[in-house]
Amino acid sequence: MKIGVLALQGAVAEHIKMIEKAGAQGVVVKKVEQLQEIDGIIIPGGESTTIGKLMRTYHFVDALREFSRQGKPIFGTCAGLIVLAKSIVGQEEAHLELMDIEVERNAFGRQRESFETDLDIKGIDNNVRAVFIRAPLIVKVGDNVDVLSTYRDQIVAARQGHLLAASFHPELTDDERMHAYFIDMVRETR
Ligand code: GLN
Repeated sequence: MKIGVLALQGAVAEHIKMIEKAGAQGVVVKKVEQLQEIDGIIIPGGESTTIGKLMRTYHFVDALREFSRQGKPIFGTCAGLIVLAKSIVGQEEAHLELMDIEVERNAFGRQRESFETDLDIKGIDNNVRAVFIRAPLIVKVGDNVDVLSTYRDQIVAARQGHLLAASFHPELTDDERMHAYFIDMVRETR
């Protein structure tokens, strides 16, 4: 099974390492044609405005919407979650608009720019290690979205069918269970 990581900007190598640790093959995706060879894709953390701009320049917007239409799983982490969302607080336009969630960027404020914690994630366990860096929050979810995890009563992970989103960076820990969960989603849809 091949899992791609969108490599336009952001934390790519760490995701590849985790995908392989969790037992699948990782593919660095820089061109739209590569979407044909992979079974699922991770949109990494980084800077969502930059990733969005590069996605438009390199024709990834329509290509990823088509990828999703085919039922192939997509996992957005941090900035990648913002890229997946249907709407972004305070912004007129969003990016892929695939997942029925509204997100707020940099939602933890300046004092809490980054921190690490253990999360209870539905379908995994109650002690999944997570790193938050200038993280977004999911402030609204549609009826068909399943909330997988909260931190202090705010939503930090969710799933809508073949779409998975996390506010944090699961690739910056040595806990590969979130990647294993995504790989299971990909296996189910194959
Ligand atoms: N703050 C970034 C944004 O709004 C996301 C941060 C991250 O991916 N670590 O795009």
